[in-house]
Amino acid sequence: ISFDEADLEPLLLENIKLSGYTVPTPVQKWSISFGRAGRDMMASAQTGSGKTGGFLFPILDELFSAGPAEAPAADGRNPHRSRKAYPVALILSPTRELTSQIFDEARKFCYRSWVRPAVVYGGADIGQQLRQIERGCDLLVATPGRLVDMIERSRISLQNIRYLVLDEADRMLDMGFEPQIRRIVEQEDMPGTMDRHTLMFSATFPRDIQMLARDFLKDYIFLSV
Ligand code: AMP
Repeated sequence: ISFDEADLEPLLLENIKLSGYTVPTPVQKWSISFGRAGRDMMASAQTGSGKTGGFLFPILDELFSAGPAEAPAADGRNPHRSRKAYPVALILSPTRELTSQIFDEARKFCYRSWVRPAVVYGGADIGQQLRQIERGCDLLVATPGRLVDMIERSRISLQNIRYLVLDEADRMLDMGFEPQIRRIVEQEDMPGTMDRHTLMFSATFPRDIQMLARDFLKDYIFLSV
């Protein structure tokens, strides 16, 4: 099938076409249909399979069709001076290179929409990243360590998260990010598995990944492409 036949939001379809894509890759085809059905998913898709679109398309399709939510009640004593960001979608990925690539794709697909993508990663000036998320952050692409830092600085709240993606989960665990990932996903204000849509991508499915899937996903579909 082509993207035209996938019955996507018109703006998303336009942006996909502007990117030069005409036919969804297998992982995109499946994730669009399962994502639409609201199913959590564990996918063993490799780099090059089009997995970035695989999670961005179902998320953006729903966000474009839902429209922006009302501004959240800012917490803190002086709401007018709250500089906290309240993203609705969070994508965790292991490295600066990957987060940047995902962010670049997200920017193309969010073009002219209400969804403002942002990216934060370690090893770079945090001040500049804080100014970026202050300008707007609905879909956040992040490496786990830098995100924990920003949560601790009370600059990002996860209370509005409706979509959570763990990309290259096996690589994140290999890099020792499990404590940070658990801190993020098990945050008190992060909506629980029943109140969010969670997608996990991992090239391999060893025991520690199975445990993460058991803890973070609900009644999930296993997709092997
Ligand atoms: P990924 O696996 O998400 O890193 O994507 C691998 C490469 O394929 C990237 O350069 C994408 O821009 C490209 N790509 C992803 N989906 C499609 C598609 N449906 N049609 C053509 N190219 C695509």
